[in-house]
Amino acid sequence: FFLTFEGLDGSGKTTQLRRLATWLEGRGEPMVITRQPGGTRLGDKVRAVLLDSRTEKIAPMAELGLMFSDRAQCLDEVIRPALDAGKIVLCDRYTDSTEAYQGGGRELGSEVVRSMHAVMCGGLDPDLTILLLPDFDRSLARARRRNDRSAEEGKDEGRFESEDERFYRRVFDKYREIAERDALRVVVIDGDAGIEAIHERIVKVTAERLRL
Ligand code: C5P
Ligand code: MG
Repeated sequence: FFLTFEGLDGSGKTTQLRRLATWLEGRGEPMVITRQPGGTRLGDKVRAVLLDSRTEKIAPMAELGLMFSDRAQCLDEVIRPALDAGKIVLCDRYTDSTEAYQGGGRELGSEVVRSMHAVMCGGLDPDLTILLLPDFDRSLARARRRNDRSAEEGKDEGRFESEDERFYRRVFDKYREIAERDALRVVVIDGDAGIEAIHERIVKVTAERLRL
């Protein structure tokens, strides 16, 4: 069972993924956690390059290629072996992120992302995607705060494009478009509910889909 978490920067994906993992662990479910970009040695290098783009401009198509290189490696090393072994895979971001950020944000369009997904990932789609979608203005403020903090602390979280609020708007809109298009796979969760309430909703949906 392949489960992905999606949403804008600072929407609480990582927190919620960990909470769900703890819950699944408590039930003795075999499980693997990974993230994109990152999750493999190659992936961590790709992540470092991308987050460095504050100083080094990366062409949108080059960025797209890097995202899918990261994903192909993660599929080969982590995701496919785990799925073959019957484990649940929890992944922090997947192709929807690329469609939202590079397709929407960078305006490369959905078509190019979906066709690369078909080639690079063999079209492997998640069984379930949790999309955390807080109110746009609030999530913008959160992304900004977090980005400033992680830049100060030299952490690798986020690379908020402070020069371009419209970029985040496009990402947000693309996520909503994906959710409408793939309404069976993608479950949208109001990211403004409290951490506990969101966790409970995620548990409920996951348990239903996994028939736990
Ligand atoms: O959520 P995570 O910490 O993995 O994201 C790292 C950074 O990479 C975030 O700032 C996010 O906006 C960016 N990103 C991106 N395109 C993607 C995935 C993540 O620009 N496809
Ligand atoms: Mg995160």
